[in-house]
Amino acid sequence: MPQPEQPMTRRDARRDPATRDTTHAAGGRRRPPGGARWGILAVAALLVVGVTATVATALASGGQPDAVGDMSESAVSASADAVALPAGASAAAADSIPAPAQTSVARASCDAPAVVTALASGGDADVIAAFGGGEAFRAAVVSGAAPCVSLSDARHLWVVVDKKRPLDPVDFEPATVVAPADMQRTVDGRLVPDAANALTALVAAAAKEGAGAIGLNSAYRSFASQTRTYNGYVDSMGRDQADQQSARPGYSEHQTGLATDVAACDNGCGAIESFGGTAQGAWTAANAWRFGFIVRYEPGQTAITGYEAEAWHLRYIGPDLAKAYHDGGYHTLEEFFGLPAAPGY
Ligand SMILES: [Zn+2]
Repeated sequence: MPQPEQPMTRRDARRDPATRDTTHAAGGRRRPPGGARWGILAVAALLVVGVTATVATALASGGQPDAVGDMSESAVSASADAVALPAGASAAAADSIPAPAQTSVARASCDAPAVVTALASGGDADVIAAFGGGEAFRAAVVSGAAPCVSLSDARHLWVVVDKKRPLDPVDFEPATVVAPADMQRTVDGRLVPDAANALTALVAAAAKEGAGAIGLNSAYRSFASQTRTYNGYVDSMGRDQADQQSARPGYSEHQTGLATDVAACDNGCGAIESFGGTAQGAWTAANAWRFGFIVRYEPGQTAITGYEAEAWHLRYIGPDLAKAYHDGGYHTLEEFFGLPAAPGY
């Protein structure tokens, strides 16, 4: 999706020096400007061009999944630049740079009738559809054009929970969690209804497509249960080691009801830790997105997610966002939504 503010910024930035040049050139025929004056104008024009290029570059690189570290910064600076050009540029280009268009752009997305209606009375899929689908939704959020979408609200599919982003409130509880039907299980896991139904579909498809049986392990865990688990680790091995084994209470995706651990269950269910080496694990890594899940902690992403690879930990983000995630080649939710890396608390 084109970034709404990008052409605005480019056009305005280009127009202004041209306007100034024309004005001053016209006057110059009667009263030739001094060299210093032209020098100032040239510097101003160069700065405007430079700033425009910076903004355009930042916006263009904002969605590239392979430049993770840079990507977060680019996304942030893109928004910041669109709101207010750097102080140096503003001063040099003087008063000719128009008021930034960010506010009107943001309202254009969130005030669109379909978006307003979906936010008021629709489900998450309706909201995403109103933005134009998964990728358009993602792009709007990353560009800052969707302030009505909170990535901190755990009632929605798009919530991002990591070591820098605790649940809000920290003892959040999902409205409803249910046991997914028609699968083996080693723990009495429950998920929010859409995620539970999606997991049932995933398990059925894995069996039908020859990958074997997938079973449910731990799914929703309350703040209280996570507190007990985490404190147990702290008591036995200390805080540093506990942080390697368990999310702190209030920082676990399991508390949203949108995350589940799965196991391969061919002849009884194996340990979740061995899931990645099974046919089920390979099938899930390739196909979970079709059912609205992502493998949240992939290999090689620890510096961003804060977790070692967990082939067994699936996070439900719904089919629309999961397709955008898959098609875009993303490997973390942080890069998908242009958020900072969260390697530690
Ligand atoms: Zn898990």
